[in-house]
Amino acid sequence: MTQHPPSPLESTAQGNAVAGPRARAGATIAAEVSFRGVHHAYNRTPSLRGIDLEIAPGEVICLLGPSGCGKSTLLRLAAGLENLTAGEIFINRRQVSSTHSTIPPEKRGVGLMFQDYALFPHLSILANVMFGLKGLQRADAEREAMNALARLGLEAYANNYPHALSGGEQQRVALARAIVPRPNVLLMDEPFSGLDKRLRDSVRDETLSVLRETRATSVLVTHDPEEAMRMADRIVLMRKGKIVQTGSAHDLYNNPIDIESARFFSEVNEIVTVIENGAAVTPFGRYDAPDIPDGTPAIVCIRQQGIEVLAADPDDRRNRYATIEGRILSRRFLGEVDVVDLVVNGLDQQLTARVRGLSGENPGNDVRVRVRPSDVLVFPAR
Ligand code: ADP
Repeated sequence: MTQHPPSPLESTAQGNAVAGPRARAGATIAAEVSFRGVHHAYNRTPSLRGIDLEIAPGEVICLLGPSGCGKSTLLRLAAGLENLTAGEIFINRRQVSSTHSTIPPEKRGVGLMFQDYALFPHLSILANVMFGLKGLQRADAEREAMNALARLGLEAYANNYPHALSGGEQQRVALARAIVPRPNVLLMDEPFSGLDKRLRDSVRDETLSVLRETRATSVLVTHDPEEAMRMADRIVLMRKGKIVQTGSAHDLYNNPIDIESARFFSEVNEIVTVIENGAAVTPFGRYDAPDIPDGTPAIVCIRQQGIEVLAADPDDRRNRYATIEGRILSRRFLGEVDVVDLVVNGLDQQLTARVRGLSGENPGNDVRVRVRPSDVLVFPAR
């Protein structure tokens, strides 16, 4: 059963949705979630191949990975909407899934939120939010639902129907509905991908602040690395039904475990080279690669935003320091950045740079090019 500890709102709002400063969301009792050796298959085709993951109470986790890698399936298993083929799942040390038994979703203390909002079109906004509070007296349920709507700035819409609300408002109603029973675990499947970019940022930020207030353990599925980096305490990077790496946004961005992870987080240029004396040698310089044996091929990844393009000013000595000569082939203006294709001395292949504040450098111009060492990663070539 979902637990209902006293909320900071109960003593203040007393059933009235407060205007002015928004209310706070009621806190839940966060749960620990454990996946142990979890396998799953759809009609004998494996979708998850041995998932081990411990999620701490109150943690915000993002399951990140390309489409089809098994993120939604893992979430659905945690919710009790799928049965596993091997392994166990625990919520607060209580076994909720095994090959022998599955506790149904409504008995797990989990809240669910999906991309398509899944609001009932024939119910008012208030009735939609009250839907998960069937165990409460009507007046109590109404008060809790109004508090949640007030927290999300939606109290004025309580008597409207979903079709009268914008996508962003509907998604906030879905969030209110998910948090109002104070779930111990909140499971969210691509909850923002139906929103346009401008709305997405604000709904995302608001959702994160509500998650922090409720302190529910939160698991969010996304294929968007930027979204995961924005939201997660810890990112779980998945590929082909397995976890390939877990860590903070900083860990995964700066120390990706392999070249596919590096490619997933940023657009990179890839230069094939050979390791000599413990380093990968490129026209830009040597990059240490102590874990790759000498004489073996390696790939040097240079993030597009790590390439600096400077005017080739013969009088500017600073520009000559640690730079090499290059020439711009093409340039596309994308608003915040220019995407520049260029060639540099000593390298046959062309490179792409994402440059902010490029001044007069145009196709055909000679330039000087420098690479930021923190934007270079070296991997063995396979
Ligand atoms: P993701 O959320 O990472 O996009 P999913 O968990 O939805 O991945 O899917 C994992 C794999 O399982 C994919 O290969 C997908 O095609 C397959 N799959 C998902 N749902 C079903 C289903 N209902 N029936 C059969 N195969 C499915």
